[in-house]
Amino acid sequence: MLRIVVSGAYGRMGREVMKAVWKSEDMELVGAVDSAGAGIDAGTLFEAGEIGVLLENNLAEALQRWRPDVAVDFTTPHAVYQNTITCLKCGVRPVVGTTGMDAGQIQEIIDLSEKAGLGGLIAPNFAIGAVLMIKFAAEAARHMPHVEIIELHHDQKIDAPSGTSIKTAEAISEQRGDFQQGLANEVEKITGARGGEFGGGIRIHSVRLPGLVAHQEVIFGGLGQTLTIRHDSFNRESFMPGVLVGVRKAMHLERVVYGLEKLLFD
Ligand code: NAP
Repeated sequence: MLRIVVSGAYGRMGREVMKAVWKSEDMELVGAVDSAGAGIDAGTLFEAGEIGVLLENNLAEALQRWRPDVAVDFTTPHAVYQNTITCLKCGVRPVVGTTGMDAGQIQEIIDLSEKAGLGGLIAPNFAIGAVLMIKFAAEAARHMPHVEIIELHHDQKIDAPSGTSIKTAEAISEQRGDFQQGLANEVEKITGARGGEFGGGIRIHSVRLPGLVAHQEVIFGGLGQTLTIRHDSFNRESFMPGVLVGVRKAMHLERVVYGLEKLLFD
């Protein structure tokens, strides 16, 4: 049995991860950490009733006490970097879904994990359909390089644009090379009307509304035609198969990898 600690256990994703771990046959939920809800029985947060795992608020202490194989992190952009460093220092493999770390922080974590010989995963999107969307978008960009991205999320999401949209733009840029799209002398009558510029003229537009979960459209434009690749996560369960794959595969890696696609396609 793989021993799992969930960080961000009181949050929306944390509860879903605990439920998925609880239901899986090869994993055991040994600890639950969150800055909120200390002392609550974790099972009551995902309708399992009392399971004897109580929420606690100190990650390092929990890792030292429970000695898990993997710690899954769905916390906040402010907490995730320090949490992941804590995991590596405690000899625990991190599987991270929290978005918001910059490229330098991710590289630092990869380097640290390599030195420690610890596997792990940082994935801005655990939905397998979203990983396929990125792969197909990268392929489309080779033939239709003009592209804009619209990402749509629930209105409680703190960071914008989404980690998935950034990952999509990175994958597209790799295929487009130095290609530059758009007008140099464009005028924005309302600041931000054209979205954020990723680079090479690729615009990312972020929509935040109640009722949404996580959605993205990648729209390519060509002569007399457009191509739209769209992915929708309708509920948080959609991320769970990817999280469980990440946990299992992290056990066989010797460093942290960035992106679920590295485990699915490489
Ligand atoms: P959420 O409901 O706000 O949950 C985050 C939880 O983490 C909160 O209970 C928060 O407590 C807690 N927390 C904050 N700092 C902490 C710390 N230092 N240690 C332990 N717990 C801490 O957010 P969510 O909707 O579950 O999303 C969590 C993250 O996952 C977001 O970054 C989101 O973008 C990302 N996400 C990723 C994927 C993916 O596929 N990779 C999918 C969905 C969401 P407080 O309220 O007290 O701060």
